[in-house]
Amino acid sequence: MKTLKRLITVLLCAIISISFIINVSAATAPKITVSSVEAIPGKTVKVDIAISNNPGIMAMAFCITYDTNALTYKGYERGYLTSYSVYPHEDEGHVSFVNIENKDVAKNGIIISVLFDVKSDAAPGNYAIALANSNRNKYGTKLHNSFSNSQQDFVVPVVTAGSVTVQESCESIGHSFGEWNITKDATCTETGLKEHICARCDAVEEVEIPVTHDFEAEWTVDKDATATEDGIMSRHCTKCDALTDQKTFKLGDINGDDIITGKDSVAVMQYINGVNVDINNYAADVNDDGKINNKDYVLLVRYLNGWNVELK
Ligand SMILES: [Zn+2]
Ligand SMILES: [Zn+2]
Repeated sequence: MKTLKRLITVLLCAIISISFIINVSAATAPKITVSSVEAIPGKTVKVDIAISNNPGIMAMAFCITYDTNALTYKGYERGYLTSYSVYPHEDEGHVSFVNIENKDVAKNGIIISVLFDVKSDAAPGNYAIALANSNRNKYGTKLHNSFSNSQQDFVVPVVTAGSVTVQESCESIGHSFGEWNITKDATCTETGLKEHICARCDAVEEVEIPVTHDFEAEWTVDKDATATEDGIMSRHCTKCDALTDQKTFKLGDINGDDIITGKDSVAVMQYINGVNVDINNYAADVNDDGKINNKDYVLLVRYLNGWNVELK
């Protein structure tokens, strides 16, 4: 009974002291954050190991662990520290990092950025990038073994692990192309080029732009219409001799339906009265005086009524 009592007391003390340590360290402890990134298979990612709330650390030693099923260590980029060594243990899936300064350094920022190649056959999913004690084989899993200050006190950081999220490859779900970007304008005589880039894998697709003319919106009469012959009209290119939409038209066929009827007299009357109707101006000037007015309307009505008049 006495033993049991003592055991409970010891346990209670242990629980109290643990929670005390956690409360104290949570407020003052440095925070180490491993970044989380996304990539498709075959790409290289950069994972930052950053510190904040740094109280001053003289020595750091830790391992960056990663999943060798999905990632291959490629290298690193230096952070704010000057004196350190980095050693990859690729067969074990970790990169060891050791830094020793000549005094406490209380800077915040990126300690090191690690580059990983995402394997081309990596399955889509989330792969953790975490910190582990570099001395773990000898001292167990206590991370605080690895951070200490000039007083030879342990500094216990709060570590937030990161990850590499491997997305589906473009081979399996297709590219995600952005907007077309014209890299070479087409002209009247030469084809142009346009490209768009996949936002996921940076693949570039290039497509030829056909020869492009700058056709006027206005029509040009290529051949006047007469009482006996159809006219010809088209839209011309402003830069070369090319033309498009070439068509024939009859004098008096004001609405362009290929026959001359009462509808054409209605259309020209509406036009004269300011109604917004779509008419063929060249077919409407039936008396060929260069204007479209009541005289054209009268002449057209007389023509339709069988008078002995001529559209000219
Ligand atoms: Zn792609
Ligand atoms: Zn042209």
